[in-house]
Amino acid sequence: SRREGFSTIPNVKWEDVGGLDLLRQEFDRYIVRRIKFPEDYEEFGVDLETGFLLYGPPGCGKTLIAKAVANEAGANFIHIKGPELLNKYVGESELAVRTIFGRARTCSPCILFFDEVDALTTKRGKEGGWVVERLLNQLLIELDGADQRRGVYVIGATNRPEVMDRAVLRPGRFGKLLYVPLPSPVERGLILKALARKKPIDATVDLIAIGRNEACENLSGADLSALLNEAAMAALEEKLTAQGSSDIAPLTIKEIHFNRALEKVSP
Ligand code: ATP
Repeated sequence: SRREGFSTIPNVKWEDVGGLDLLRQEFDRYIVRRIKFPEDYEEFGVDLETGFLLYGPPGCGKTLIAKAVANEAGANFIHIKGPELLNKYVGESELAVRTIFGRARTCSPCILFFDEVDALTTKRGKEGGWVVERLLNQLLIELDGADQRRGVYVIGATNRPEVMDRAVLRPGRFGKLLYVPLPSPVERGLILKALARKKPIDATVDLIAIGRNEACENLSGADLSALLNEAAMAALEEKLTAQGSSDIAPLTIKEIHFNRALEKVSP
């Protein structure tokens, strides 16, 4: 996006996130309330991890949660894409890492989000070669400066935690590992509800029942978003067709549109 690497408070609210209640609780304790009530955490001498790794299959809400956490905490959000950092600044990526952490400190409280963080942290001596190695070392230096990065919370996201260098997963670095799974049948319904907030869904449509439908098995949040979009398209097409005829144009997205969409979408 245009704001890549720059800070801003994201507009993703928790209502936009379906399911993932446990993660929300964890982030409430570890980040949101810590930013809102720093004196209380200080008073009780609570010392908690500031680095997190979200891992799990693609399209299940890792980016979305990170943004919602920042929104809820009223914190700035810096979005870094691992592979871009590697490629865009070849030879300068160490400097880029330093600059990014500096920027995060300047705009704290801040969530520093590293998407596809595995690209920056592959096991040393493997895929990347010396570029990755030097970048990784710089990243470790920055992560270890936790005392100087008050108010900066680092969240990494990956679909392939197994390729990451173990050293980055130690406490104080990406120390707290949080699994973001494929949604359960009920959670699929909750995700559909969250996604449907901005769409004219007919009152007769039972999104929870659709989530439980066998045809939704193994769909991710991103797949469910595609499903909803297909259903909206089906309703829109019907409306546009009806406008030139004597048929009655639909005003909402109905069951029949979801049924058509379900035939098209697969994981
Ligand atoms: P990747 O590993 O591919 O980066 P990700 O886990 O970061 O995936 P997101 O980018 O957060 O996935 O999700 C992609 C889109 O899918 C979101 O923008 C949203 O539309 C939808 N989505 C995924 N999970 C959820 C969820 N739990 N609730 C609501 N929408 C979701």
